[in-house]
Amino acid sequence: MVNIKQKQEMIKKGELKAEDNISQFLATIKKKDKSIKAFLYVNKNAISDAKAIDKKIKQEKKVGKLAGLAIAVKANISVKGMPSNCASKTLEKYKSAFDADVIEKIKAEDGIIIGITNCDEFGCGASGENSAFGATGNPAAPGKIPGGSSSGSAAAVAGDMCDIALGSDTGGSVRNPASHCGIVGLKPSYGRVSRYGLIDLAMSLDQIGPLCKDVYGTALMIEVISGKSEYDPITFDRPILKYTKFKTPKDIKIGISKVFKELCKDKRIAELIDKTIKKIADNLNVKPKQIRLKYIDLAIQTYYPLVYVEFFSATRKFDGRRYGKKIEDSCGEEVLRRILGGETIGAAEYEGRYYRKSLEVRELIKNDFREAFESVDIILCPTVPSLPHSLGTKLKDPKVMYAYDAFTVPANLAGICAGVIKAGEIEGIPVGLQVMADVFREDLVLSIMKLWEDMGG
Ligand code: GLN
Repeated sequence: MVNIKQKQEMIKKGELKAEDNISQFLATIKKKDKSIKAFLYVNKNAISDAKAIDKKIKQEKKVGKLAGLAIAVKANISVKGMPSNCASKTLEKYKSAFDADVIEKIKAEDGIIIGITNCDEFGCGASGENSAFGATGNPAAPGKIPGGSSSGSAAAVAGDMCDIALGSDTGGSVRNPASHCGIVGLKPSYGRVSRYGLIDLAMSLDQIGPLCKDVYGTALMIEVISGKSEYDPITFDRPILKYTKFKTPKDIKIGISKVFKELCKDKRIAELIDKTIKKIADNLNVKPKQIRLKYIDLAIQTYYPLVYVEFFSATRKFDGRRYGKKIEDSCGEEVLRRILGGETIGAAEYEGRYYRKSLEVRELIKNDFREAFESVDIILCPTVPSLPHSLGTKLKDPKVMYAYDAFTVPANLAGICAGVIKAGEIEGIPVGLQVMADVFREDLVLSIMKLWEDMGG
């Protein structure tokens, strides 16, 4: 199979028509997606959009970096004229009136939006089963959950239904499904990518990130969507690195921590990740260094109160007047749990006790990473502490689902960047290695993932 780099060149040279690229994906969607349910909507104009790109190429006009590539977009990111329904009945009939910043950038680079992908309702979940329109399947491990909440985006990539997909990651929603589906995913540093046009789950944690089968495609997409936006005050004017120019840093210091092994429910995952880290370290001829992450075990207890409170406040606009239906009357169980929970813990009688405590522990976790990155460049660890459950399993308690996030939420709480790449398989199920680096060091994350990919990882 051709990789993204080869395909990008073939399209530009006219060796592969954008139209053929798109129609082949549309055919796969038609064939497979009834059972996978990766897409909620397929762009009816995708073929004519592709033809327009082919015409430009024929006329020898300059085309963008994503020319003719098929891009799938999570249902919480606004694409003008398409349903950004967050996989919720609340917004079932809602169509976006504008393009999110990231979509504008993708269109400016001649990427073709192939469709809108399924997800956990409003991004609340880690399995893809919380969609109001049916659960997504895992093309890499049939019968298992694909992970979430960007379930459809990961499944669309893993199932060969698009070139690159966009997801959003508040506590792991790009990395968790990338891990379970055996693909590459990246959560950018907080402020790297504009959130304008992303429907909030928790605005102090949310970032849009790419999913792809290879590191080049992931890097290409982050290069396109990064940058300061006048519509998103938290975006930074940091130079946009040329992510696609990978260079393995010399004398890179790899950090590892025992705490991940201790918290890993499935010891086979810890072993596989250990082996992977050893191979990478041997290849680089370095010795990993133990770091101390003192508060990581509190990450879930810290994350959820913050998400509940921020989500409660973000959902107040869904009162049934301006957009869709009243959320409390139309949403699913997990969304309602967060709204009611967020209202309760944010209420005056608790004096912000839980929320304030969470903010304090968030600082401690940030500090853990700040100290760690004084002595190491990257941290390598598992992505999810256990293997994905079988689709449709009735989980006893929401905490079982929340536990999937133990190793991904720390990066969101600290605002750092983190990527995921397949380390190997256990019982035929993909397991992802997580690569974390300090704020705005996506170049390091991508270079290490590229190294592992080139090693045959
Ligand atoms: N699983 C986490 C949650 O349910 C993460 C969600 C996300 O990153 N969107 O909140």
